[in-house]
Amino acid sequence: MRVILLGPPGAGKGTQAAGIIDRYHIPHISTGDIFRKNIKEGTELGKKAKEYMDQGLLVPDDLVVAIVEDRLKEEDCKNGFLLDGFPRTVYQAEALDKVLDKMNSVLDKVINVNVDKEILIERAVGRRICKDCGATYHIQFNPPAKADICDKCGSTLYQRADDNEETVTKRIEVYLNETQPLIDYYKGKGTLVTIDGQQPIDKVFQEIIAALGA
Ligand SMILES: [Zn+2]
Repeated sequence: MRVILLGPPGAGKGTQAAGIIDRYHIPHISTGDIFRKNIKEGTELGKKAKEYMDQGLLVPDDLVVAIVEDRLKEEDCKNGFLLDGFPRTVYQAEALDKVLDKMNSVLDKVINVNVDKEILIERAVGRRICKDCGATYHIQFNPPAKADICDKCGSTLYQRADDNEETVTKRIEVYLNETQPLIDYYKGKGTLVTIDGQQPIDKVFQEIIAALGA
């Protein structure tokens, strides 16, 4: 099962990813994680990536692809993988196709968890976090028993600085604009399945499983 999971910040991708890897016994490959691992272990690719990141630059596509390619060749990917955060561009998507082709492999499905922009904004803006234990709440969907107080430890809740409406809106718009060409690319290849991410979490998961066909 070789799957890509697409979805904007706030679409509940993390929960769905956990369910998918558990069900299909495949590794969850997030580019953020493999970058950190390569840098920590001081691999050649990690060193190169770090040079860009230290300068606040984006890691070039070819380097990102090389790092992902390395990861896909590891033993635990022989029955498949779940890619998260990669590809980000059509160039990367085409490069991934070539990598898989070299490995005599193909992508099975691209799952796109779709949530309306307004709902994503509402989800992010209402989020509150405990300053001590890190528990998360939502003023509307998952409120604490007592306003602004953590149910678990009694500490105060706060709103992340970048969860204000303006920043959230910008974050989501950037994501949607960047991802649209990728969605079109996979639509064209017939591998894209769009799931309504505004349904209850369990229902979203059931539809993903049905789409993956197992
Ligand atoms: Zn707490």
